[in-house]
Amino acid sequence: MAEQLIVVGGDAAGMAAASQARRRRNPADLEIVVFERGHFTSYSACGIPYWISGLVPERDQLIARDPATFRDTFDIDVRLRHEVTAIDLDRREVVARDLAGGGTVRAGFDNLVYATGAVPVRPDWVRDDIDGVFGMQTLDDGTALLDWLERDPRPRHAVVVGGGYIGVEMAESLVARGLTVNLVEQADQPMSTVDADMAELVAEAMRGFGIGIRTDLRVTGLEARDGRIAAVVTDEGPIPADVVILGLGVRPNTALAAAAGLPLGPTGGIRCDRRMRVPGVPGVWTAGDCVETLHRVSGMPVHVPLGTHANKQGRVAGINIGGGYATFPGVIGTAVTQVCDLEVGRTGLRERDATAAGFEFVTVLAESTNRAGYYPGARTMTVKLIAERPGGRLLGAQIVGWSEAAKRIDALAVALWNGMTVDEMTALDLGYAPPFAPVWDPVLIAARKAVDALAGTGRR
Ligand SMILES: Cc1cc2nc3c(=O)[nH]c(=O)nc-3n(C[C@H](O)[C@H](O)[C@H](O)COP(=O)(O)OP(=O)(O)OC[C@H]3O[C@@H](n4cnc5c(N)ncnc54)[C@H](O)[C@@H]3O)c2cc1C
Repeated sequence: MAEQLIVVGGDAAGMAAASQARRRRNPADLEIVVFERGHFTSYSACGIPYWISGLVPERDQLIARDPATFRDTFDIDVRLRHEVTAIDLDRREVVARDLAGGGTVRAGFDNLVYATGAVPVRPDWVRDDIDGVFGMQTLDDGTALLDWLERDPRPRHAVVVGGGYIGVEMAESLVARGLTVNLVEQADQPMSTVDADMAELVAEAMRGFGIGIRTDLRVTGLEARDGRIAAVVTDEGPIPADVVILGLGVRPNTALAAAAGLPLGPTGGIRCDRRMRVPGVPGVWTAGDCVETLHRVSGMPVHVPLGTHANKQGRVAGINIGGGYATFPGVIGTAVTQVCDLEVGRTGLRERDATAAGFEFVTVLAESTNRAGYYPGARTMTVKLIAERPGGRLLGAQIVGWSEAAKRIDALAVALWNGMTVDEMTALDLGYAPPFAPVWDPVLIAARKAVDALAGTGRR
């Protein structure tokens, strides 16, 4: 009889696990059933801001594969609109509610992949009786927002609450659609994923695009007129709004896991080992935004909800379930984003993380250009490096700049992943030609500056 693999959650992590398990085991040996409570499987939430802006014209372009493809091509049974409501580890079965047809289904498992993603933080001032307020996590959220933006009276003033990467990407989308946008952030900077000096460059550029940036400002409520959003109420008074986007971050979606007795770590994510096994619960695996992982530089457990990790972790779980051997070695916090042409990249530790982890370090900021200064289109780029004192190991890096800035973080991420010192980095054989870089790439300039800072000397 075939073994049963049940996957809870049919997006990045869950479908990567299912697909990899199928590659290694045929249907006669392994039956795979995926329960997904939403309307879609294998969709790109990451693409939602670009669909909202109109850059990606059709929602369906964000869907990589549908259930029919999974069934016909991969023998994977994806059941949409099925919400798993309980996991019984003793009986080794899940209970799922059929949200469309009604009724419940029970399904036994030999292996289970828990890949339920994350849940958006929803403050208590959000009210269900006010139209025009949107979270932005699923394609359904995007459809609802687009419908609102196109409905009369057409919204003209948007407030984005929360200045993380989803908030700034949504601010860009709404600017592209011609709305005036205010972004409200209760911390003293937007983009808390980078240090304050780099975030100020981002804020400055956003202001230049006409986005109002309001920091140190707490939202306390919403005002409505005839059931429609009219204003966001803050400590300093109301800000008019006819559409509001909530971008307040997410936390691991673990309610079901906790009820079943799966272990949670200090970040609230599900604990797992490097093979994505849940410790102490044989045959139970987990991956994606619901898990806690290791930060390879600080050595601390972290919750980093990104698609790049979800895909890799799901792949690792699937390979192991399929009888192979794979590990997920942790993260270093690499991320890139764009706001109205401005690109932001980061990897490793910020200053505050390095301090919290007990490192002694130097920081340098190097301003240079993306191309040779004389080459058309040359624009400013700022690279920040954080290097351990006295040895010079790279601990963190951030880049803010115009075209070709963000993906330069990858070279720094590889250096950091491999424990390189800034001195070693100065000799890196990076490509040079005038359309792509100055003769000293911004990464190399920053590394040289960090070497100087470590030596306590001036510019060399
Ligand atoms: C607007 C936006 C932009 C983003 N941009 C980027 C980016 O540029 N780069 C990047 O790396 N990441 C980005 N992300 C993050 C990325 O989308 C997530 O990290 C990734 O989708 C996580 O995959 P996952 O499979 O763990 O979780 P999810 O994609 O959230 O999938 C979990 C699935 O589980 C289902 N589910 C939950 N509970 C149950 C249940 N009880 N029963 C059945 N089904 C259930 C949910 O419906 C969901 O479909 C972005 C996210 C958003 C929202």
